[in-house]
Amino acid sequence: MSKKIICLFDVDGTLTEPQQPISPRFEKFLLETVKKEFDIAVIGGSDLNKIQKQLGSGNLFEKYKYVFAENGLIAFKNGKALPSQMIQDILGEDSLQDFINFILRYISELKLPFKRGTFIEFRTGMLNISPVGRNCSKKEREQFYEYDNEHHIREKFIQVLKKEFPDLGLTYSIGGQISFDVYPIGCDKTYCLRHIQGYDEIHFFGDKTAEGGNDYEIYESDLTIGHRVTCPKDTMNQLNVLITLIKENREKEQLNIPLQCV
Ligand SMILES: [Mg+2]
Repeated sequence: MSKKIICLFDVDGTLTEPQQPISPRFEKFLLETVKKEFDIAVIGGSDLNKIQKQLGSGNLFEKYKYVFAENGLIAFKNGKALPSQMIQDILGEDSLQDFINFILRYISELKLPFKRGTFIEFRTGMLNISPVGRNCSKKEREQFYEYDNEHHIREKFIQVLKKEFPDLGLTYSIGGQISFDVYPIGCDKTYCLRHIQGYDEIHFFGDKTAEGGNDYEIYESDLTIGHRVTCPKDTMNQLNVLITLIKENREKEQLNIPLQCV
């Protein structure tokens, strides 16, 4: 019997160039060539809306067997939502509110070259904190990024939060240009693996697989076969290699059957 395999892809930097939509050529390859051989699934750190925007027009849930947003805290199988964990359930309303109040107070005392709106984005399983505010323009975003590189606003903020709330069991990760994510420990991308059942092999493809990167834990996990990629083109090349290998194995198996029967 040939193995049942699923290919699970990180989105940003793996299926798409950073912050860009998937190229039509790559999407065609995934849906017409790869999907013929394996089930396919996606896992992104960002929210579902953003993943949907990046992965082209049409119904995302028809294209991918599993869709995971927010590292798998939001999960869909065949288009059906699986139970999700909300951060208020994990932390408890009381602790969560102390945490949010502290953040708002800290931001209120920060003096930056400029500030815009939406300092805390409340997602399902995580919070996204932006000292400058998520409503800033593309140009302001870049200006803040430069300012932050020089003054380490986000890094210092995280240090303060870690010191103030050592017992909440939270992980912090700086991503993008203007914000950082806060989520419960263990809610990295490995969280999504609990939903994937019934496969002999889970092949994971990601671009941030080094320690500290957001693909590190799932790439290293015993439950996956990890593929480190550098860009969408590399993902495509590695998929072609995998397809060739699987086909060769299948042919060998078929040749073996009569021999085993003798
Ligand atoms: Mg990535």
